[in-house]
Amino acid sequence: NKLIEIKNVRHTYQTQNGPLPVLDGLNVSVPEGGFAAVVGPSGCGKSTLTRLIAGLMKPDEGEVWLHGERVKGPRSTVGMAFQNPVLLEWRTILQNVVLPLEIVPTKLNRKQQEDRARYLLSLVGLDGFEDKRPSELSGGMRQRASLCRALVHSPDVLILDEPFGALDAFTREDLWQTMHQVKEKEPFTGVLITHDLRESIFLADQVIVLSGRPARTQFLLDVPNTG
Ligand code: ADP
Ligand code: ADP
Repeated sequence: NKLIEIKNVRHTYQTQNGPLPVLDGLNVSVPEGGFAAVVGPSGCGKSTLTRLIAGLMKPDEGEVWLHGERVKGPRSTVGMAFQNPVLLEWRTILQNVVLPLEIVPTKLNRKQQEDRARYLLSLVGLDGFEDKRPSELSGGMRQRASLCRALVHSPDVLILDEPFGALDAFTREDLWQTMHQVKEKEPFTGVLITHDLRESIFLADQVIVLSGRPARTQFLLDVPNTG
């Protein structure tokens, strides 16, 4: 039941200063329902790894598998949230969360789409904020909304690229709690990029350490319990 499998992935960016090898024979697997934290120094290839999983780019060599299928391009079964959520100011919070359902259509009608968004917003504690604009929310609340948007398609994989990095310590830990609650109701397989070891231990059950340049060796630490 390996949900994410990365086999012997090698990738080199072509830059103005010549080739920049980033990943060199990387092997990673994350079981279904697992939550992997990816840590490593800046520039080691963490974002590259998530882009490969999301199908936003192809590795030079090696294979990326999701759910027993070779990843060939972007898919709606991967949700992504980033450090600086890009929420559209001309849309309400509810309309921002619904957006991915408009871009990649589903069988849900308008009412069902909004119900789905409302439900997710209530899961993260944003009931009552559906009709607000993004700028009316605090940073932590915007991050919650962006989490809902990432989850709206019920993705198999939720990629979190340092989503809590810009928040103050109190808000951050509040969001950790929320993540646990959300995962219980809306199961996903998680990949979290973070620089915060406490965050890895609190949220993840597996820590992937990318090290070396290009990154190859990965130590896999199993975190015995979460929550
Ligand atoms: P991390 O997320 O660990 O900071 P990245 O995966 O973003 O690392 O990037 C790894 C290295 O590859 C960095 O040196 C970065 O500048 C470079 N890089 C990332 N994306 C590109 C790109 N599209 N073209 C060229 N170089 C890139
Ligand atoms: P992060 O700090 O999140 O790892 P980076 O600052 O490395 O991100 O990169 C931010 C974005 O810029 C990435 O999406 C990457 O594709 C792009 N990028 C990074 N380095 C380069 C580069 N040398 N040439 C072109 N694009 C790059």
